[in-house]
Amino acid sequence: MANKMEHFKTEIREYRCACGNGNYTFKWHTYRDNYFSEDVISQKGIDCPVCKETHYIQDYSLVPKAVSDKTSEASNAVKDLCQIIKDYALEHYREPMFKYISSIPATRWHSLWHIGSPSIGTFRKDINATNGKEATFNRHLSGSYESTIYRIMVTLEKCNIEDLKLANWNDDLQVLIQKRNEVKELENGYLYKGQLLRDYTSYQDPKLS
Ligand SMILES: [Zn+2]
Repeated sequence: MANKMEHFKTEIREYRCACGNGNYTFKWHTYRDNYFSEDVISQKGIDCPVCKETHYIQDYSLVPKAVSDKTSEASNAVKDLCQIIKDYALEHYREPMFKYISSIPATRWHSLWHIGSPSIGTFRKDINATNGKEATFNRHLSGSYESTIYRIMVTLEKCNIEDLKLANWNDDLQVLIQKRNEVKELENGYLYKGQLLRDYTSYQDPKLS
């Protein structure tokens, strides 16, 4: 027999919105089955016709849309350039990079690439598996983050590879990162954390689906 998830409870938190005439709300709907397995579906929304037009919810605060859009724009610019740098570097220098990094001890690889997760024990196990070095190389360069570009640049340096195009892009990237951080900082100043109005639990099924 199918083990059906049924609504158990909904926790609700309401905050005063930025204009003061409405609120914004977080809901956590908990569903349980006969074996007390639980699923939680979260919902959030602005219940104010004015603030709905002018703000987004961010964490437990409201942020003006114009400010938030600027941050997104700056973040996307960083991400896009990271992608370009990564694609170019791997297209041209994948082989020497892999040759170098797979020839040094696991601890050096782990620290050179600033790998926080997994820890060195698991990392060593990973690279010692069949095709582990290649899989590890790919995995830790799979994203297009600042950390990915850092790993690429530091490896190229170890390989004594100098590429003017990459160096220029990397300089541009540092400028974009700084700009992004400044915009982000500015955004923090615009966050509006409304007064908590109500914090309660409802057992009424919201009939979401
Ligand atoms: Zn409002």
